[in-house]
Amino acid sequence: MGEIINVIDLAKSIKGQIAEFVSQRANNGEIIPKIASIVVGEDGGSIFYINSQEKVANSLGILFEKILLKESTTEENLINEIISLNNNEKIHGIILQLPLPKHIDEKKVISYISPDKDIDCLTYINQGKLYAGHKKFIPCTPNSVVTILDSLNINLQGKEVVVVGRSNIVGKPVAVLMLERNCTVTVCHSKTKDLQSVCQRADILILAIGIPNYIDSSYVKEEAIVIDVGTSSLNGKITGDVLIDDVIGKVSYMTKVPGGVGSLTTTLLMKNVCEALK
Ligand code: NAP
Repeated sequence: MGEIINVIDLAKSIKGQIAEFVSQRANNGEIIPKIASIVVGEDGGSIFYINSQEKVANSLGILFEKILLKESTTEENLINEIISLNNNEKIHGIILQLPLPKHIDEKKVISYISPDKDIDCLTYINQGKLYAGHKKFIPCTPNSVVTILDSLNINLQGKEVVVVGRSNIVGKPVAVLMLERNCTVTVCHSKTKDLQSVCQRADILILAIGIPNYIDSSYVKEEAIVIDVGTSSLNGKITGDVLIDDVIGKVSYMTKVPGGVGSLTTTLLMKNVCEALK
């Protein structure tokens, strides 16, 4: 029987380190990290995320400014807001909640975020640095995947890693981070032939597909480590890509959904703002 990785405890331990860093700075009279997080419009997901970011920031002593702009905000107004945050020395990290309303050019607006404050790693400059091996910030979801794997304290070198999903926000950066750990990485997608047999090769199988319960034990090698990034809604429940009950008997370790990869992302965003300040 495999072990479900306790990501909640891992997040608690990293939160403890961040809180210690912030309180030491406060005690020494040094600057405390501050995040500005922007939401444009009423997107329910974005409002949920900004509220949970605020809660986590407050619990760690990190300063947090919520910037709620109307749905009708113009592209120019939003860009001016970002420029003003770039120039504000008291702000160390900027988060822009996506998606933006349709009348705003997302790529154009993102290009105005200062790479030094781009703690969510949205800008092409920071993404380029990540791919070139000179990263400034690691995007939170891929960072969560590798932080979970690193926490297992196993030697990752030479491991066969299969990543299913090739999106810019998950699959591709995860593949690069696993390459950095000297793994042998295969990236699969919807056009991959015989996905099942490719997945069966994996010592570490990372799923970022978005189809609930798609991966059953027939995709998984004995004693593999399975990391489930997927979060889909199924019958009103957040559900991962992996059929947990079927797979758990075959793996050494796996994450569950909810309570897995997503439980660590906001914490790592907070860690990034501390890095920005350093
Ligand atoms: P995405 O942009 O839709 O990418 C999905 C990827 O899965 C694509 O590369 C797609 O292939 C591939 N795919 C789709 N059907 C497939 C199939 N039948 N066989 C093999 N590959 C298939 O999604 P995303 O933004 O990367 O997110 C993936 C999942 O992670 C979603 O459930 C999302 O909600 C979740 N997520 C979770 C967190 C978190 O914090 N836990 C954060 C971000 C995302 P093609 O490229 O060929 O289309």
